[in-house]
Amino acid sequence: MYIDTHTHLFAPEFEADIESVIVRATESGVGKMIMPAISPESYDDMERLAARYPGILYPTIGLHPTEQGDMSEAENRLRDGAGRYVAIGECGLDMHWTPETIDRQTEILSRHFELSRTYGLPLIIHTREAFGPMIELLRRDRRLRGVMHGFAGTVDDYLAIKETGDFLFGIGGTVTFNNSRLPEAVAAMSLDDIVLETDSPYLSPVPHRGRRNESANIPLIAAKIAEIKGCSVAEVETATTANAERMFRLG
Ligand SMILES: [Zn+2]
Repeated sequence: MYIDTHTHLFAPEFEADIESVIVRATESGVGKMIMPAISPESYDDMERLAARYPGILYPTIGLHPTEQGDMSEAENRLRDGAGRYVAIGECGLDMHWTPETIDRQTEILSRHFELSRTYGLPLIIHTREAFGPMIELLRRDRRLRGVMHGFAGTVDDYLAIKETGDFLFGIGGTVTFNNSRLPEAVAAMSLDDIVLETDSPYLSPVPHRGRRNESANIPLIAAKIAEIKGCSVAEVETATTANAERMFRLG
């Protein structure tokens, strides 16, 4: 069984055919899917969907770095019942889309770090064009755990982040792109540090690039990682599923 550790199935792009999207995923061997929260406007949609598929879909709670708004709704929901979430996030730093809010992003990210510690939940961290400041923040803290989602850094970034805490690295469709430098980093990474993700509806792997992504595409990403690492797809499946189950405590 595969686990898609990052799939926004509550997005409007899936509204019309969510049932077949989930059937296609489970038929492709993707038995569990983690849905990272984006913003308060979609928390209810996310939670309703998770409640329809217990043991298959798992929600998280947090505020995406490109979103405005505040953390109070996420904090209220955690206070009301943190047990229904498997992670805090997605949170992070994005200097590509919203460089003008970087100070506020940093403040909100620190709040996510605190919540992760308070509730004993791992983080799901988004980093776009911001590895320098991100590594600095993680170094200052040193007691954090979670997933660096959509990892697009270098081997040096990977090693630096690993040193700061208990982190796994989410590898998605980007690894299949022709112009991607990610395979170089993946070649140097241990399978024990990798989890799979689609980031649906974005970033479809080859040969579906440019179309809506969905969790059923996870095996294409696993196959590419197996090719890069010169191992079997089954080894990638076993290792990445065990890594995700440990980090998110999906018994
Ligand atoms: Zn995301």
